[in-house]
Amino acid sequence: MAMGATTPEPQSSSQAIDGEAFKHVADTLVTEAGITPMLHRMFVAPIMEGNTIKGVITESKAGREAILAGRVVDATGDADVAYRAGARTRKTPLEEMIAVSVMFSMSGVNKKRFIEHVKANPATYHDWNYGEWSVETSGKEDEMFSPFLKKPFDQARASGLIPDGLSTIGGTWGAIYDEGDLTYLNLVHLPGLDGTKPEDLTRGEMEGRRQALMAVEALKQFNPGCEEAKLRNFGMTLGVRDTRKIDAHYNMTAQDVREQGRFDDSIGIFPEFLDGYGILILPTTGRYFQLPYRTLLPQGVNNLIVAGRITGGDKDSHTATRNMMCCAVTGQGAGVAAAVSVLHKKPLETLNIGLLQKELKRQAARID
Ligand SMILES: Cc1cc2nc3c(=O)[nH]c(=O)nc-3n(C[C@H](O)[C@H](O)[C@H](O)COP(=O)(O)OP(=O)(O)OC[C@H]3O[C@@H](n4cnc5c(N)ncnc54)[C@H](O)[C@@H]3O)c2cc1C
Repeated sequence: MAMGATTPEPQSSSQAIDGEAFKHVADTLVTEAGITPMLHRMFVAPIMEGNTIKGVITESKAGREAILAGRVVDATGDADVAYRAGARTRKTPLEEMIAVSVMFSMSGVNKKRFIEHVKANPATYHDWNYGEWSVETSGKEDEMFSPFLKKPFDQARASGLIPDGLSTIGGTWGAIYDEGDLTYLNLVHLPGLDGTKPEDLTRGEMEGRRQALMAVEALKQFNPGCEEAKLRNFGMTLGVRDTRKIDAHYNMTAQDVREQGRFDDSIGIFPEFLDGYGILILPTTGRYFQLPYRTLLPQGVNNLIVAGRITGGDKDSHTATRNMMCCAVTGQGAGVAAAVSVLHKKPLETLNIGLLQKELKRQAARID
């Protein structure tokens, strides 16, 4: 907010990140923290000594490089490092994996007309039951406003603009600006694709862009306020929600994320916020669970810790731990653990949890 990189979020008193401006915010945070940024390098292989990871091999336009490291943090979203280092990982079966999305934004929207139409046709989270999808809520969500768009796509199907069989176009909008930008259009969902397979990524990205353009045309024709609008941009990458997760020293369970799990080795907390596999529970009650340090530690590989959506857990727990702010919690936990481990010359596997928690608290992280 201080850097002008947010805008009001339509369904709460929160601020939404401006994804473009946030790139500069992130650059600034990295620079201020004294991190050596190394963009434009792809991790391709681990450097192993037995079961211990000692660094990574990267490829870039400059060729192949070896980067040795005191500790390695895998935050690839796909557990690329853990998987290649030989750690046990698992994937949800392809037919159950959460769909991938091509996100996009539009410009030239008449905000006044758009918002008037939203107010005249308020959608709720109950409306997420559509096409082949159904959603289980805790009940309270059914009455809550959702920035949800479905009707224009039903009309587009009826008019022949969108093929009859294509029932997956529909979803949420994120923010609308006075200047006419309508952002984070999360409307295109492609099931049955595995984000660790380049051929699936290729197919998803191209098919997703094709469907996004159909959605743009449907909004122009059938959603008041969008008549003069146009595509502003596609997301920088295909949006992948669900691939490998590590088999950790502790794997989170549905019970943990639904019933306020508590752990002695907590590295942070996250509210009861579940979204995925047909479950939707929003964080409105104050209920929360703790995240144990052990969920960041892969089995079978030493010196490696993970953060983000790849932490250990079952299918239902992924609906909570994949959420962005939970990824921020495990990111801070993993980064601080790696630093404390180096500082005190203790392996990650036998780290003194008290020292880790003390440093997290010093950084104002809430762990209980
Ligand atoms: C379309 C979509 C909508 C979503 N909406 C919401 C929402 O409304 N609210 C919410 O809380 N969550 C939402 N999520 C979920 C959430 O955004 C993700 O689960 C979360 O951002 C994952 O964070 P991560 O750090 O684990 O992985 P990522 O954010 O994917 O980061 C991984 C990084 O590693 C890099 N990388 C990967 N492999 C390599 C490699 N081999 N070498 C070098 N770099 C590599 C990638 O380029 C990337 O920068 C959404 C997800 C999607 C796809």
